[in-house]
Amino acid sequence: MIKAIRGFKDILPGETEKWVYLENLARKFFLNYGFREIRLPVLEKTELFARSIGETTDIVEKEMYTFLDRSQESLTLRPEATAGICRAVIENGLYAQAKILKLFTIGPMFRYERPQKGRLRQFHQLNAEVFGSQVPGTDAEIIILACDILEGGGAKKLKLEINSLGCPKCRPAFRDALQKFLKGLKDKLCEDCRRRAEKNPLRALDCKNETCQALYNEAPLIEDFWCEECREHFLRVLNDLEIVGLSYQKNPRLVRGLDYYVRTTFEIKAPNLGAQDTVAAGGRYDGLLKALGGPDLPGVGFAIGMERFLLVADLPEELAIKIDLFVAALGEPARQRILPLVHNLRKLGLAVDLDHEGRSLKAQLKQANRLKARYTLIVGENELSENKALLRDMESGVQEEIPLQSLEDSLFKRLKR
Ligand code: ATP
Ligand code: MG
Repeated sequence: MIKAIRGFKDILPGETEKWVYLENLARKFFLNYGFREIRLPVLEKTELFARSIGETTDIVEKEMYTFLDRSQESLTLRPEATAGICRAVIENGLYAQAKILKLFTIGPMFRYERPQKGRLRQFHQLNAEVFGSQVPGTDAEIIILACDILEGGGAKKLKLEINSLGCPKCRPAFRDALQKFLKGLKDKLCEDCRRRAEKNPLRALDCKNETCQALYNEAPLIEDFWCEECREHFLRVLNDLEIVGLSYQKNPRLVRGLDYYVRTTFEIKAPNLGAQDTVAAGGRYDGLLKALGGPDLPGVGFAIGMERFLLVADLPEELAIKIDLFVAALGEPARQRILPLVHNLRKLGLAVDLDHEGRSLKAQLKQANRLKARYTLIVGENELSENKALLRDMESGVQEEIPLQSLEDSLFKRLKR
């Protein structure tokens, strides 16, 4: 038997309802916050990710699904959404349409990682990005939106961690100090961090290795290196969060795995998720659009991981749709007589199902119960010859006779919500 690829999961009926519920909830928040949807290809030229995410990140070094297509072009299944959104913004000149561009997208991402709880090779994200605004209010709005979506989905006890990574003006001095610190630790560090110390010291702080993390308690802190503008920006982001009553925790060692982040960076964590407890992550990436050949416009955004969101969401019990009416037609003449009615009610937007299999009344009533139908309409040979049908309220068990001529009207009146 052929099985699905490791780390790629089917999302089955029973689960899909939860996905749709959370996606609809998120979509409503996005739209209400003034974001518009963008849908992008899952496949892009490899160079896009190499240039935007950074050559020395985990993603680009070891997690990308990259292959040559039939004309020997190197392509990659998108590991994240921001790079593709930036490409589309530049390619389609979207930045010319509005001073501030707010976009969201929902869809699958692909990373070649070790599959475990909350970590898959095909996973899904809700992404939001704002282009063209540098003011701290926008950073705060992005964070508030992410929290609203997660809380809207019933996630509780979320922990918002926030930091500022400085800017090209003040970060180099921090980078040098951190590099010096890391080089001093040399043989105590994992192999990855020794390499990061050379090429991209900030990335070391994001190491998953506990020994490294323990050593980094003594590492220099970015906040001691912030320029006045960065400090001011950060404080104003925090102030907005306070104004709307959002609690946060400053985490001076929080960095993002992606190279293009500047200033605000944040993660939203949920308790009880174990090692993979970051549900959402995001921040500011002012230089990215320009680095990809576009205009010099700032950007800020976030990604919520859908699989982890589902693990912490608190959803209504019954998400599967309940049908309005089940039609139990007994015998082929009854089925044919009732088919136009079913069709019309369906076109009117009602949830109606019927049995084409010619099963017994008992079997059909059982099916109506399983589908949690509000009503069942019973039409057998006797009813046909008397030009009527029996309507049964499935909750109370009360049955009444309805003439066939007025069936559509009376059913529609009764069933419309
Ligand atoms: P992690 O530290 O867990 O590897 P990351 O820094 O690689 O996360 P981001 O690139 O910031 O993650 O992605 C944003 C969010 O997408 C994460 O917070 C998480 O919810 C989700 N995510 C990332 N990778 C995976 C994965 N392999 N499987 C499921 N969800 C994921
Ligand atoms: Mg990762």
